[in-house]
Amino acid sequence: MMVAIYPGSFDPITYGHMDIAVRAAEVFDKVYVAVVYTKQSKSFWFGTEERLKLCKEALCHIPNVEVISYMGLTVDLAHKLGAQVMVRGLRMGSDFDYECEMALNNRKLAPDVDTIYFMASLEHIYVKSSLLREIADSNGEISHLVPDSVAAALRERINSRV
Ligand code: ADP
Repeated sequence: MMVAIYPGSFDPITYGHMDIAVRAAEVFDKVYVAVVYTKQSKSFWFGTEERLKLCKEALCHIPNVEVISYMGLTVDLAHKLGAQVMVRGLRMGSDFDYECEMALNNRKLAPDVDTIYFMASLEHIYVKSSLLREIADSNGEISHLVPDSVAAALRERINSRV
């Protein structure tokens, strides 16, 4: 049985993340979407519980995907779950340097867990949580970037600040 984890911030989950999760679920027997727990030093827009909830809602239709949260090293989580593979998505070349560093560091820490990349689909290649937040913050159209539940959460988050 091939088990994969798909780790990330998912702040918040977008159609781009969902596309990767769906495609990974077609390749692996089980995919854990692993939402990294908020560390005080890193500021996310959404707390861990809300990021987790939005991911669960967005991915509940895929039977072999389970959404969890975690703290600490991703390779430790992979070992705990018996995952042989870490899944990540690649958009433009700008993702490459960061992902390369991560993959090499992770392989040093856990040579038994390899990272497998899915190339972003053309329609999602420009979708990025940070840009999404900026567009939402300026009241721009986001319905092509995220499901309704995420759009509603973004609006609520923005309105709660004013
Ligand atoms: P990070 O761990 O850098 O905060 P994210 O949580 O935003 O990353 O994303 C988790 C993974 O999903 C990363 O590998 C990222 O490259 C990938 N990803 C994010 N958005 C997309 C997208 N639109 N298409 C493909 N992959 C994506």
